[in-house]
Amino acid sequence: SPSSRSSNLNQKIRVCVRKRPLSTKEINRNEKDITQVTGDRNIQINEPKTKLDLTKFVEQHSFVFDEVFDEYTRNEVLYERTALPLVNYIFAGGKATCFAYGQTGSGKTFTMLDPRRGLYVLAARDIFDMLQQPQYEHLFASIGFYEIYQGQLYDLLNERKRLHAREDGNNNVVIAGLHEYAISNVDSLMQVFDLGSQVRSTGATGANDSSSRSHAVLQILLKPKKSRKTIFGKLSFIDLAGSERGADRGETDVKTRMEGAEINKSLLALKECIRALDQDKKHTPFRQSKLTQVLKDSFVGKSRTCMIATISPGNTNSEHTLNTLRYADR
Ligand code: ADP
Ligand code: MG
Repeated sequence: SPSSRSSNLNQKIRVCVRKRPLSTKEINRNEKDITQVTGDRNIQINEPKTKLDLTKFVEQHSFVFDEVFDEYTRNEVLYERTALPLVNYIFAGGKATCFAYGQTGSGKTFTMLDPRRGLYVLAARDIFDMLQQPQYEHLFASIGFYEIYQGQLYDLLNERKRLHAREDGNNNVVIAGLHEYAISNVDSLMQVFDLGSQVRSTGATGANDSSSRSHAVLQILLKPKKSRKTIFGKLSFIDLAGSERGADRGETDVKTRMEGAEINKSLLALKECIRALDQDKKHTPFRQSKLTQVLKDSFVGKSRTCMIATISPGNTNSEHTLNTLRYADR
């Protein structure tokens, strides 16, 4: 049961893995589940070495993380173990970030930004409840929703207007002109979110798989009612670009190659920044990508980070799954 899990929920950085179930389509294709959650913190991959017999010739890879969630884990349970501690943390004046990292189709959006049960909705519900309490009466919540594509910021709540980030005098990253909506209940949140989701799925170029090529950032800010320019707490949900996009897949199309290079750069920079934080290093390479630049204020000082690596269980995805686990392992 979740309560018996030993991992500390209040660590500065938590790295978790979530495995999704095989889809009906995959089952019909005779795809085999080669991943096995062997404990609250353990996962094993049985990598097929030949396509002829998926059970006989396998190489086993074992990994340990702060927490591993199997295919039966519902978003409500995942929420309690990942985003809920971050919600409590921003009410103590902190800044927190929750990432979903993984290949396209592994469950990043399902986990973070599913309109009805994504972590962001579950978090917002608790945030609205807490704002009803007398001790937080002086605060209100607002949301912003933007996309990072090819190193540029686009406002998903304002017709994909291009935006620029800068730092104010208090080490806050400010995205100038970002549309923010004050929200106080789930209905108004969903209305605003739907607007942004539609803009996102249309894509910068009109291509319909654009969500795998950009990072989406949904941020919830807590601000004092009396000074709306001050940030009291900040929680960001980030649905990262598909990690396979960063791999060198021998693409010949120039645009696809450039996109891949940019995604690769940002995912590497993210890994380096989280690693530097974890090791309390003096130098953190924020400047290496737009993604880490805009997140800088959520990494320095009073901050918490939760990374959820999502994996597809099928045998044909074994290489991407191993890459994801190796990335998260660092
Ligand atoms: P990604 O955003 O990483 O490309 P999606 O979140 O769109 O992947 O998930 C791909 C498909 O798998 C979707 O149809 C989604 O509903 C389904 N799916 C993902 N994770 C789960 C899960 N944990 N349980 C059930 N279905 C899931
Ligand atoms: Mg997605």
